[in-house]
Amino acid sequence: MKILIFEPHPDDLLFGAGPIIFDWIEKAYTIHVITVTDGRACYRGYKEIDIEEDDVATMRTNEAKQAIHFLGIPLENLHLLNFPDSKAWRYKKEAILKVKPLIQDADRIFIPSNNNRHKDHQATHTIATEAAKELQLDIEYWVYFIPSYGVFKEDSREKQIFITIGDDLRVKLLEWLQIYQSQKKTTHTWKFYTRYLTRLRNSIVGIYKLEDIGKYYNF
Ligand SMILES: [Zn+2]
Repeated sequence: MKILIFEPHPDDLLFGAGPIIFDWIEKAYTIHVITVTDGRACYRGYKEIDIEEDDVATMRTNEAKQAIHFLGIPLENLHLLNFPDSKAWRYKKEAILKVKPLIQDADRIFIPSNNNRHKDHQATHTIATEAAKELQLDIEYWVYFIPSYGVFKEDSREKQIFITIGDDLRVKLLEWLQIYQSQKKTTHTWKFYTRYLTRLRNSIVGIYKLEDIGKYYNF
């Protein structure tokens, strides 16, 4: 089983795939991660944080690498596309070309939901599904939402599964969170992440097929 996980920003792996990824690692599945943007925009609007955006991008892509190391996934399975954070939609065509050879032999891809409130997450959904459509990939499409960016709707209820998060997993997720030190500089973000993971008891994922693309609110 080869799985390609799409993360729009260098910390979405934790919030998107975190609840399920340890299961896949335990089953010795081959996991690849595609990080679409470089995360450079996370301090925009914070006048008190004076760091060059190039340095922010370096810091955050390094955190993406550390997360891969933490999970015990080979570093060559991390594919940093390095498109500018907040502008992924501008690079859709280029991204589709880069993504196609990576997903062509995948058995499953893990992607953000359609109708996403976050532009980069929506762009990532579009990039992944357009690339998959061009390849006519008859595989499993696992779809996730980062909670602040949307919800799962009733129309695909029968496609959705609930993942239960037990205490041991929650401890691992909170340990994983410590890698993303860049997010500590904005105190409220860090508090939000910590509180979110501490209270997390379950997570929803939708599982779709190629022919479902465009038929549901979430896919
Ligand atoms: Zn994100």
